[in-house]
Amino acid sequence: MSYKTIVGLEIHVELSTKTKAFCGCENAYGREPNTCTCPVCLGLPGATPVLNKGAVERAIEIATAFHMTINHKSTFSRKNYFYPDLTKGYQITQTDEAIANDGYIEIDSESGEPKKIGIHQIQLEEDTGKSLHTDQGTTLMDYNRCGVPLVEIVTDPDMSSGLEARLFLEKLRNTLRYLGVSDVKMEEGSLRCDVNVNIKDTESGERSAISEVKNLNSFRAVEKAIDYEVNRQIELMEKGETELRATRRWDDAKNETVVMRVKHTANDYRFAPEGDLGPLFIDDAWIEEVQSRMAELPDAKVERFIDQYGLKEYDAKVICGSKTVADFYEEVARHFDDYEMLSNWFMTEFLRRIEVTDDGEMDVPFEAEDFAYLLEQIKSSKINNNAGKKVFRKMCEEGKKPKAIIDEEGLAQIGDVAEIEAFVKEVLDENPESVEQYRNGKDRVVGFLVGQVMKKSRGKANPQMANELLTKFLKQ
Ligand code: ZN
Ligand code: MN
Repeated sequence: MSYKTIVGLEIHVELSTKTKAFCGCENAYGREPNTCTCPVCLGLPGATPVLNKGAVERAIEIATAFHMTINHKSTFSRKNYFYPDLTKGYQITQTDEAIANDGYIEIDSESGEPKKIGIHQIQLEEDTGKSLHTDQGTTLMDYNRCGVPLVEIVTDPDMSSGLEARLFLEKLRNTLRYLGVSDVKMEEGSLRCDVNVNIKDTESGERSAISEVKNLNSFRAVEKAIDYEVNRQIELMEKGETELRATRRWDDAKNETVVMRVKHTANDYRFAPEGDLGPLFIDDAWIEEVQSRMAELPDAKVERFIDQYGLKEYDAKVICGSKTVADFYEEVARHFDDYEMLSNWFMTEFLRRIEVTDDGEMDVPFEAEDFAYLLEQIKSSKINNNAGKKVFRKMCEEGKKPKAIIDEEGLAQIGDVAEIEAFVKEVLDENPESVEQYRNGKDRVVGFLVGQVMKKSRGKANPQMANELLTKFLKQ
């Protein structure tokens, strides 16, 4: 039997505007509960919403980055439902006349081939408040998040595995982070993801009921939940069992999905036009104006790094995989122009020692100039490569300046011919059998003898000079 996995995602992204979507309240995370509220976002009778221009412009940027068609006219609707975190009794959102449609994000799929994942729609809407369930069995409400602008991103069902969904989300998050339109932090809820997954028997065409999985708090959880659902649905189908479409949640501790509610009927939100907000008109001039000040996107940065710094495609993708890393590369490159050596150091020592978090943050305990200074010392043979790695490790661990470390540790390379010659002569005297072997045609002993010179100089001799001098004396 063979099955095709069908995955679509619904992603909610909080926009990092100064104020909320429809009022002047501050849009900030982590404030004292209920200190960023007003009659509009609390939904008090008679209060009227006014659309935040900054939210619209961020949505235009997102739509552009995802190659979407931006609609010149879009409208707002009321999505009616009752829940304590929604005091108005409805959420302002967009439905079939949303701000943008029909785009895509290109990912490097499992096979390594590029694959386009369709974006069906993005819609502007508002966030709800937050319920805090206490250990005492009570629930407290914080309305600071009420009315925070959201973009809901609805993909086409184009992903065919858990891994592909994760790769898609990573690209999406990276793109949004490059744009600077959102913090995109899953643990703070500024990026949230729901999954729709089902399978299709490729021979009979039979499809399983769609599972909608919620409560996913990491991309890893998204991947695991999809893989879990696929296996569960295949098992059911092979037993000939069917089930109703259901909403499930991911239980991270148990590593399984659990039913929250079965959908006997479609939800009826009684969508109605939002009478307090007119249509949103966006003309080409506005779109062009917003696009003209957009930040560089990840794919464009990769291309530029290949052109400008001559990087290999793979290296450019790794370095540009995080904007903070790419920015730091460019800062060092302003002071050190052997870009290939620089990227080698980034790909190995730098990324091995500097941790980049899921939020794209990193803590570098030295300045770009310090890194450039170290590389310059190595390039000009003032210290050798191994000493350079040692200095770098100390820069990371102790935050000291490279010059101070080189001086303290006495790492400066010996590049003086007379000094190295003295070591070479000693080594040759002490190893007559190696000299003999060399004369009998065993060139490889040179490596051993260089090692001896390095040992004698406590690692400080310039290895290349040691090699040249040894060869010279051996040939005499
Ligand atoms: Zn407000
Ligand atoms: Mn939504």
